[in-house]
Amino acid sequence: TDWVAAAAAVRRWLPDGRILLVCHVNPDGDALGSMLGFAHGLRRLGARNLQATFPGPFDVPEPLREVPGVDRLVPETEAWAEPDLLVTFDAASTDRLGALASRLSTARDSVVLDHHASNPGFGAVRLVDPAAAATSVVVEQLLDRLDVPLDAEIAECLYTALTTDTGSFRFAATTPAVHQMAARLVATGIHPGEISQRVFDSRPLGAVKLFGEVLGRCELDPAAAAGHGLCWTTATLADLEKHGQRPHVLEALIDSVRCVAEADVCVVLKQVGEDTWSVSMRSKGAVDVSRVAGLLGGGGHRAAAGFTGSGSPADVLASIRSELDESVIR
Ligand code: 5GP
Ligand code: MN
Ligand code: MN
Repeated sequence: TDWVAAAAAVRRWLPDGRILLVCHVNPDGDALGSMLGFAHGLRRLGARNLQATFPGPFDVPEPLREVPGVDRLVPETEAWAEPDLLVTFDAASTDRLGALASRLSTARDSVVLDHHASNPGFGAVRLVDPAAAATSVVVEQLLDRLDVPLDAEIAECLYTALTTDTGSFRFAATTPAVHQMAARLVATGIHPGEISQRVFDSRPLGAVKLFGEVLGRCELDPAAAAGHGLCWTTATLADLEKHGQRPHVLEALIDSVRCVAEADVCVVLKQVGEDTWSVSMRSKGAVDVSRVAGLLGGGGHRAAAGFTGSGSPADVLASIRSELDESVIR
């Protein structure tokens, strides 16, 4: 099976092979936590040539700076051109790997660890479990297959990942198995309260004020998708500049828009260039937002998806609205 092939691919390059770990652009807690948890696991197995990196700007969001191993990340420009083994984390498609997608053809072996249903299937060995709440679930299982016992350093990484993608154990994918995994992680002695505080409940005053301004512009269409409500707002580069904030603070914004009771679908348009928008979508269940995102060049999960849109905010919103009716889950 894939588990056997994945474990064999990893063992084949231990201890001296050059192992390159890559997670998706603009890494979130699952991307970084899964990757760094696996990196610690590989070191326990004796890996001596290990790089962990991600594409795009080499800027780790503040809430993730204390994940163990962040200090040893390398920028993509330093990543080996021809690694022996490439392992990818939480990347739903090759474009999420940016320029590092080239390593899929230059590496001698590749293993893809992911949990997105929209993953089209890339890499030589694919461990993609759409039922998994986070990529870290897949990573924990693979570490187990590799006979790596959990320790606090690994657990800190995997817990950060698991709590991020389950929205602090609130989302629908929060199964008994998720809580059992959390229990194994917490049993290593990590402090969930401190991790949660850093991941969810900590942002600069400027970001809070920025959120206030952007949330103040929320609009609601109570019947945008076959009777289901749509709520959206837009955060511009000017908003970021005004409040002295960097783009990644906006990642948490969708969680506040998601609270709007009248809306089944929530959308945040985050400006990344003159006419370019990074779009986050969330659904409370009535609509499959991964379908919408997929049709517009992105991907994700039924309840959480995204894509890059171009044109004016009105153009991007119109493209979303035109797919909503067809994306209602019947
Ligand atoms: P977020 O809104 O938190 O950035 O992303 C939500 C989900 O959508 C994540 O699972 C992420 O993988 C997916 N996603 C966001 N943006 C993109 C994109 O541009 N392309 C693809 N394929 N998936 C995306
Ligand atoms: Mn992710
Ligand atoms: Mn994930």
